Amino acid sequence: MGKLRIESLGKPKSEPLEKPRSEPSVKPRFAPSVKPKEPEVKEEPVLEIGEFVLPGEFVGTSEEFRAGEGTTLISGDIFSTLTGRVAVDRKSRAVSVQPVTSTPNMIKDGDIVYGRVSGVRESGAAVEIAAVEGRIERSIVNLSLGDIHVSNVRDSYVKRLANEFVVGDLVQAKVVDVGKMRLSTNGESLGVMKAYCSNCREELVQDGKKLKCPHCNKTETRKLSTEYGKGIY
Ligand SMILES: [Zn+2]
Repeated sequence: MGKLRIESLGKPKSEPLEKPRSEPSVKPRFAPSVKPKEPEVKEEPVLEIGEFVLPGEFVGTSEEFRAGEGTTLISGDIFSTLTGRVAVDRKSRAVSVQPVTSTPNMIKDGDIVYGRVSGVRESGAAVEIAAVEGRIERSIVNLSLGDIHVSNVRDSYVKRLANEFVVGDLVQAKVVDVGKMRLSTNGESLGVMKAYCSNCREELVQDGKKLKCPHCNKTETRKLSTEYGKGIY
């Protein structure tokens, strides 16, 4: 924080005030729909738009940031409560999540969807669907619940679904029956893309065909996507 202050003090004056200032060169990707009418913007844009997140994802700590809109503070950690992009206000040090869009989209059979595992039973895993691939941007749907039946996990027999999915995993899945919202992860690129240690919640890293916790060394298994760890945007 002290460092930031020194930097802004030491900054040379940007432009003479008489000169009308052009639009800021770095525009936030999702600008607010109501723009202030004042043509002259004296301050530089301070919003940094970052990663695409789903509800419940870790976005920072209270030591780094203040918890802004679309986030919640739980014992020092800040989590997103929305599907959208992380925005950091460099000035107020507030971190917020800007919803990408609230327009529901029609999902159809064959679509690839992204979501979070919200429940694992013997016969299937429940997935909160958050985004659909294939449109210009990954469009965001209203949270709807999909189901990965145990027969749709992989092309081989699944003995125990808890070895394939854990609550909190981010998955990429294909819609096989939109009526019943049945999803499938049978396919190389389909399956878990991000998972957390069930012991300490650290993000697991891929180690061959398994996942390993860099913090406590626990090894876990999942139905892994070939895109594991490569991000979801
Ligand atoms: Zn761990």
